[in-house]
Amino acid sequence: MSLTPEDRFKAVVAHAKEYGFVFQSSEIYDGLAAVYDYGQNGSLLKNNLKEYWWRSMVQLHENIVGIDSAIFMHPTTWKASGHVDAFNDPLIDNKDSKKRYRADVLVEEYVEKIRQKAEKEVAKAAQRFGETFDEALYRQTNPRVVEYLTKADAVMARFVQALEAGDLDAVRQVILDEGIACPVSGTKNWTEVRQFNLMFGTKMGSVAEGSTDLYLRPETAQGIFVNFLNVHKTGRTKIPFGIAQIGKAFRNEIVARQFIFRMREFEQMEMQYFVAPGTEMEWYEAWKEKRMAWHRNLGFSASKYRFHNHDKLAHYANAAADIEFEFPFGFKELEGIHSRTDFDLRNHEAFSGKKLQVFDPESNTSYIPFVVETSVGLDRLFLAVLSTAYDEETLPDGSVRTVLHLPPALAPTKAAILPLVKKDGLPELAHELLNSLKFDFHVAYDEKDAIGRRYRRQDALGTPICITVDHESLTDGAATLRYRDSMQQERLPFAAIPAKIREVASMEVLLKQL
Ligand code: ATP
Repeated sequence: MSLTPEDRFKAVVAHAKEYGFVFQSSEIYDGLAAVYDYGQNGSLLKNNLKEYWWRSMVQLHENIVGIDSAIFMHPTTWKASGHVDAFNDPLIDNKDSKKRYRADVLVEEYVEKIRQKAEKEVAKAAQRFGETFDEALYRQTNPRVVEYLTKADAVMARFVQALEAGDLDAVRQVILDEGIACPVSGTKNWTEVRQFNLMFGTKMGSVAEGSTDLYLRPETAQGIFVNFLNVHKTGRTKIPFGIAQIGKAFRNEIVARQFIFRMREFEQMEMQYFVAPGTEMEWYEAWKEKRMAWHRNLGFSASKYRFHNHDKLAHYANAAADIEFEFPFGFKELEGIHSRTDFDLRNHEAFSGKKLQVFDPESNTSYIPFVVETSVGLDRLFLAVLSTAYDEETLPDGSVRTVLHLPPALAPTKAAILPLVKKDGLPELAHELLNSLKFDFHVAYDEKDAIGRRYRRQDALGTPICITVDHESLTDGAATLRYRDSMQQERLPFAAIPAKIREVASMEVLLKQL
């Protein structure tokens, strides 16, 4: 059944709750905005995503190591990193709807709409001219397409210039001049633009007077930079090398919405790759490709991913691109790849007075390495996977089954063991099988309801294999395996089942395809 993107998104959010993937935080107290908890199945899926990332980074690269640094850091860290001064979003309110927006998001969405108009013209022409269509020529010469694209570039350039100059009046003027309206009220009655720092503050210490002001880290990267020398010295690493980390980050997002896409507490998987100055662009390009390949390896359609090169660079970067994914609400950033120069290490050197350099025996000099980072949001990845895997499939008999076509290696449960009936020794035999498998795989047991309904429940959880133990199993030592995607069945002896689960659903298979 083909779902509209809006229906899909609604269905995925409802499904996530109904099947124990994602719950609103503190729901019994009516929830906490943009904070979510992962349930019994969600935490398994999330752990599998972490494992896929961690093993591909740390286990498969000889020169990448992993760390786990604290969320609290010395407050000077955030002065050195630029977050105290520059980690701001420009916000603007519509006076009629009282809704608050990020000025940059309003303008980017407006520009994207203009670009889409040009794309529509191109698509129409492609259909009209068929085989003989010269797309590149059409883009350069068709007056309407040229007009749209020139306009989009001009608005963006003007906006980026205003932002980079920190001129908030000019930022607002772009919104006014372009007649950008509030999507809720439809009016152009805007407040001034203000800067808003996204870091959460907290205090450490038992008495108010003697306490220290701290921040909850807004990114995991700084924990890696301040440990750079510790790892380099104790790990005997040689440039180029990487340090990887998975951990929580906190941002007081102005506009938190779209479920777990934009949260105030979320998890990042970041890798900082330390390279010799002058080689950073090569590594930047290499990591862009590597990360795209890692995402595509999950097996979803390649057309769901695209690169977006940044027009406006963050305060620390000399090149940056996003890997965007087509979520149900459109193409949005999933991962950032940034060439961070030596900005962070140089500033930590300056603020701490400690040398953060490596020695190059060839030139007999020390230098501050440059950094290329890859940074993916675990929760966004979770949403990308869940929303794409979700399907409401019409079967030949006309019935509809809800199924999660998760990559099997990511599925919360690899196999469900189902005794055909709740008696005659079948539950005991099913448990024996379960106990022999549970050391290697996350397996589940279910004896409630008719077998068909149990299959459907496992489909909805994304379980790739159901193993039914029946009366014959008591004598032939075999069971029926039923596969989630094809719904095909095959009979296998108990002894052959572990290898089968491994073949279908192990992380090794996914990693070896990389
Ligand atoms: P955005 O432009 O969407 O705010 P960003 O460019 O600020 O994101 P980065 O600082 O590059 O994001 O962080 C790296 C990754 O962390 C992002 O690609 C995203 O996957 C994830 N991420 C950032 N902010 C959030 C958030 N509020 N909730 C969930 N994930 C987030």
